[in-house]
Amino acid sequence: RRPIVAIDGPAGAGKSTVTRLAATALNLFYLDTGAMYRALTWLALKTDTPISDECAIAELISSSYLEYNLDPASKMLKINGEDVTEAIRSLEVTSRVSEMAAIPAVRQFLVEEQRRCGTKGGIIAEGRDIGTNVFPDAELKIFLTASVQERSRRRLLELKDTDRANISLAQLEQDIALRDEKDSTREVAPLRKAADAVEIQTDNLTVAEVIDRIVGLYKE
Ligand code: C5P
Repeated sequence: RRPIVAIDGPAGAGKSTVTRLAATALNLFYLDTGAMYRALTWLALKTDTPISDECAIAELISSSYLEYNLDPASKMLKINGEDVTEAIRSLEVTSRVSEMAAIPAVRQFLVEEQRRCGTKGGIIAEGRDIGTNVFPDAELKIFLTASVQERSRRRLLELKDTDRANISLAQLEQDIALRDEKDSTREVAPLRKAADAVEIQTDNLTVAEVIDRIVGLYKE
């Protein structure tokens, strides 16, 4: 049996933290699909390939390859041999990734790669379209949400001790709301709760409580 668990939700809902820990608890592989969209965005920016030029982007990705580890303890991600684990979290990549993720050729390329990961063993994958598109037959689908205010507050805590620590909460709220809007209104595989997904609203839950709930649902 190769169980698949799909975790979707908007930016900053805590998907990465929760999914990684749940993967460890459930002894499953872990796949961060957002990191893949970020890596291709990083590559486009690095090579000065205009994200508005779909043909140029299609050509760029046809000659690119990703390397990563499905172990939940590993955050390593390389593209064309270059380690971009840290670089894909930059403000510049974050502000352009939704545009890149709306390009059909980009999604086709990554979804194929993601489905291949599902053949390697039990896996828990997180993103925006896992339950609706990548793994529509997943045995468990979770839709993680939180209010924009709460998601921004958490993001600000994460940014403490970084060079972006002085960003205002209002600015973060605006950035997060804009990314949600772009991700939910694009034509290909927009951010949606799958009809058979369980929604967990996490505003008043701790990370441990969210994981307990996911582990409980998995074992049902
Ligand atoms: O989860 P993360 O914030 O790293 O995702 C970055 C971006 O990648 C999202 O805002 C979205 O545009 C795109 N994405 C996507 N489909 C996924 C995962 C991420 O379109 N399955």
